[in-house]
Amino acid sequence: MSSDVRVRFAPSPTGYLHIGGARTALFNWLFARHHGGKFFLRIEDTDRSRSTDEAIEAIIDGMRWFGLDWDKWEGSDKDPIRQTDRFDLYRQKVRELLDRGLAYHCYCTAEELDARRKEAMAQGKVPRYDGRCRLLTAPVPGKEAAIRFKASSEGEIVIDDMVKGKVVFDAGTVDDLIILRSDGTPTYNFCVVVDDVDMQISHVIRGDDHLNNTPRQIQLYQALGYPLPRFGHVSMILGPDKARLSKRHGATAIQQYREEGYLPEAMVNYLVRLGWSHKDQEIFSLPELIEKFSIEQVGASAAVFNPEKLIWLNAHYIKTGDPKRLAQLLLPHLERLGVASDQIDLARLTQIVVALRERTRTLKEMADSAVYFFTDEITIDEKAQKLLTPEALPVLKAVRDRLAETPFEHAPLEEAFRSISEALGLKLAQIAQPVRAAVTGKTVSPGIFDVLMILGKEKSLKRLDRQVAQFTAK
Ligand code: GLU
Repeated sequence: MSSDVRVRFAPSPTGYLHIGGARTALFNWLFARHHGGKFFLRIEDTDRSRSTDEAIEAIIDGMRWFGLDWDKWEGSDKDPIRQTDRFDLYRQKVRELLDRGLAYHCYCTAEELDARRKEAMAQGKVPRYDGRCRLLTAPVPGKEAAIRFKASSEGEIVIDDMVKGKVVFDAGTVDDLIILRSDGTPTYNFCVVVDDVDMQISHVIRGDDHLNNTPRQIQLYQALGYPLPRFGHVSMILGPDKARLSKRHGATAIQQYREEGYLPEAMVNYLVRLGWSHKDQEIFSLPELIEKFSIEQVGASAAVFNPEKLIWLNAHYIKTGDPKRLAQLLLPHLERLGVASDQIDLARLTQIVVALRERTRTLKEMADSAVYFFTDEITIDEKAQKLLTPEALPVLKAVRDRLAETPFEHAPLEEAFRSISEALGLKLAQIAQPVRAAVTGKTVSPGIFDVLMILGKEKSLKRLDRQVAQFTAK
């Protein structure tokens, strides 16, 4: 399928991949995939003092984890492209505007501009460049100049926004933007337009924190003689207190969610619903999202981040996901808890996933609950300790002796426990609980027979022995 839809995600690499950014990327990706178009990644690193290679890596890593593959842009050998590789083009476009009388040299110094800004503010005016260098007819030799764009202050600038609807700006609020600094570096708004034109971007979908940039960008498109793309400005994500989502509300980096044990499909499902909806459906597979997504259905009002909903979705995907894949994803979480991955047999880990997945909501929780399957020395937690009383000794002994002769399969294990409970006149749970405490160190675990089968006979007997020995020694 071919289509004219060409969109991009254009992060500034000044930190990690924020979940707001990830959602913008996701909306662009879904829009492109829905229309059979192209989705590009462009790194906006012109602010050299704030951009880092680590941040670029973190963004790429986050995108990959999130499953957002991008298309290589035909216009460059590099992938993704970086604005710092494209300064020649931006300078050439600045020259074009200068030659056509649509830009001019500005010799005002930072101090002068600052003083005028303060003066305007003191008079209660909105500070804006007064355009005085427009009047210069010849270059001033020996003086450093920035290049400014001659903005038009006539009339209105109307955006037919795909998300916000009609947005009208008074052109008088657009001042003469610096497009090339006196040190020769191009500025942000200019590079965005030059790139979007060069990459033939058809739809610009981005956060509404950029809405105020759009009128000046539109004037730049017009000055450069290019058709406008369609714009769609997506509302910010808010924290529960309705302030813009930030670190103080909890994790905001995509990577952090990965470390906390969230699945990418849960994040995708969660983030797409922050703003977009389709009837009252909550759970969407990726193919379904590609089929159903439409940018016009993204709501104009801001969405509130709801961690409970995310965790609910994560639990859903853990319960319903392919256990083999989940086992793979669980490995790093176990490693973090000190379990060497070469110790781990994936088939066994898959069994563990099946046993645990009904009761864990994140992979991290699952790893915490699985660690006792792998360690030689388990820690008995406080609650479990309370079950391992001298009264439990006959139970542990009886189970230990009986299990030594029992095949570790469900039916024989069940039979063994039943006959012990009958012999001792105790309920099944009164047998299972101290055994659970002895072999897992916890009071909560999957069904005891599953635990014993996964643990295997040797380890199970050893753990029971250790407890029996402790009491006998006391
Ligand atoms: N680089 C901008 C940012 O990270 C995005 C610009 C755009 O999408 O037009 O917020």
